[in-house]
Amino acid sequence: MPDERVAIYPGTFDPITNGHVDIIQRAVDLFDRVVVALALNPGKEPLFSIEEREEMVREAMNGWERVEVAILDGLAVEGAAKHNAIALIRGLRAVSDFEYEFQMALMNMHLAPNLHTVYLMPNEKYTYLNSTIIKGVALHGGNISRFVPSNVEKKLFQKYNDK
Ligand code: ADP
Repeated sequence: MPDERVAIYPGTFDPITNGHVDIIQRAVDLFDRVVVALALNPGKEPLFSIEEREEMVREAMNGWERVEVAILDGLAVEGAAKHNAIALIRGLRAVSDFEYEFQMALMNMHLAPNLHTVYLMPNEKYTYLNSTIIKGVALHGGNISRFVPSNVEKKLFQKYNDK
């Protein structure tokens, strides 16, 4: 498609949650193609390896025709250029996300003036959801089935049972 409008959605996805999936759905509604880009070196120590994180996203996105999964090795703006993205998607939950996201959006605008950062808000049921909370609940055997895709739920319990 020559005038295809592509968006990139970078993140750690450690692991992907239904909050992320909600954002991807909204991005798919707005763009022709969405590249979910997993940060190889996110600057924090992930629980899951890049291979595990990628596999979970691929399984969760199985059947989503306009979604592509990629590894992001370097800056998000470089990934955006590589995939010809016109927009960089981020999710905004509570006010607590704002300060960091604002700094990052301004920096990215400096690095890539033509790339639009687009913030999307999830359904309110995912507003307080993040991967860290999910991992904490899973570690203690709590029920997370409403908050993550079923393949992720399985992988999380496997991970903690192996430890
Ligand atoms: P990062 O380490 O880049 O923040 P994450 O995987 O934690 O990576 O998040 C990627 C993006 O998805 C961020 O913009 C984050 O705010 C957003 N996000 C994460 N969880 C949710 C959620 N429950 N609802 C909406 N957006 C979310």
